[in-house]
Amino acid sequence: DQPLAEVDPEIAAVLDAELGRQRDTLEMIASENFAPRSVLEVQGSVLTNKYAEGYPGRRYYGGCEHVDVAENLAIERVKNLFGAEFANVQPHAGAQANAAALAALINPGDKIMGLSLAHGGHLTHGMKLNFSGKLYKVAAYEVDPQTFRVDMDKVREQALAERPNVIIAGWSAYPRQLDFEAFRSIADEVGAYFWTDMAHFAGLVAAGLHPNPVPHSDVVTSTVHKTLAGPRSGVILGKQDFAKKINSNVFPGQQGGPLMHVIAAKAVAFKIAGSQEFKDRQARVLEGARILAERLTAADVTEAGVSVLTGGTDVHLVLVDLRNSELDGQQAEDLLHSVGITVNRNAVPFDPRPPMVTSGLRIGTPALATRGFGSTEFTEVADIIATALKGGADVEALRTRVTKLAQQFPLYPGHEQW
Ligand code: PLP
Repeated sequence: DQPLAEVDPEIAAVLDAELGRQRDTLEMIASENFAPRSVLEVQGSVLTNKYAEGYPGRRYYGGCEHVDVAENLAIERVKNLFGAEFANVQPHAGAQANAAALAALINPGDKIMGLSLAHGGHLTHGMKLNFSGKLYKVAAYEVDPQTFRVDMDKVREQALAERPNVIIAGWSAYPRQLDFEAFRSIADEVGAYFWTDMAHFAGLVAAGLHPNPVPHSDVVTSTVHKTLAGPRSGVILGKQDFAKKINSNVFPGQQGGPLMHVIAAKAVAFKIAGSQEFKDRQARVLEGARILAERLTAADVTEAGVSVLTGGTDVHLVLVDLRNSELDGQQAEDLLHSVGITVNRNAVPFDPRPPMVTSGLRIGTPALATRGFGSTEFTEVADIIATALKGGADVEALRTRVTKLAQQFPLYPGHEQW
């Protein structure tokens, strides 16, 4: 019964250092967030000890009466949050949710059609080294080379030519909303299932600030740890017709024992996501991204060859276009890291630079909104980023401005360790 610091001082030091890093820097990786204390408490609880293969009321292990309550709460809450007929809350992560969703819909050798990874899609939508690219035939669609947006006329043309069995809407790096009704009608026209992966924008949907794909899709998957700000994990929603197939393709299809500490933490996150505080926060997420896009398209920045793909954003992230900048994606990521802002470099569609270097940055606002940032603070962050990317900036001065913001919004206040 010894504390971590005694049992394993090396790992305790990692936790301390990471908490310090999260507190002292500004987290702007679009897929990250800060799980609230309540979620962290559940994840660090005795629920981690429990085996519960199966589903509530139908387990292969005894002693599941309490974890059943937690899983049923998670299921009911997420169904209500998104207006879904059915939910499976067991996927360990987004990739497992996606593997199970595809396995429930189609067979190996069938064809999937999703947004190309190089144009903002996810690995699990058909990348050749991923299970999705190995098990299924892939016909990826791309963004339009002029507008950098998904063109639904072209998606339809390609779907008619390729006859995919599943059409996928969803992305990891795309700054605009998708037209779920158009995807549905194309899927119906070609006899495909329609799957939406809302991992990135699920929090915006929950807050009513983004169109909801659930009514239009056969199956919807999501992560819970991005805009939703819950534990690192996945979830599958769908029409009741797919319930049996999805359940059996999660367990025993993809997974063994569910992570009950994570499932209970999902229940907490879904409860919070239904609150007014959460809605207000998502509004600040969108406002922050809009402020950032505006600052990064101002004349002083574009003169330095920096701008924003599609000229703006409708969501929680901005894709910075560095194709005409002296800085490449790697250099820009390192530069922002040196001022205390964490982002990730990201290939832009049709990127002239190699994938490890890239000509873009993906910058997101969810984590800072969770930390409490509003328009005043996002205006200051946007100016720090713009000043850095223009080139020739005083890095120390920018780092001081970052530190001031970080201190103004303490993260997990009152906790010496976590
Ligand atoms: N789907 C999309 C659209 C994503 O962006 C991601 C993660 O980045 C995933 C799925 C996979 O989630 P995980 O990393 O939890 O496996």
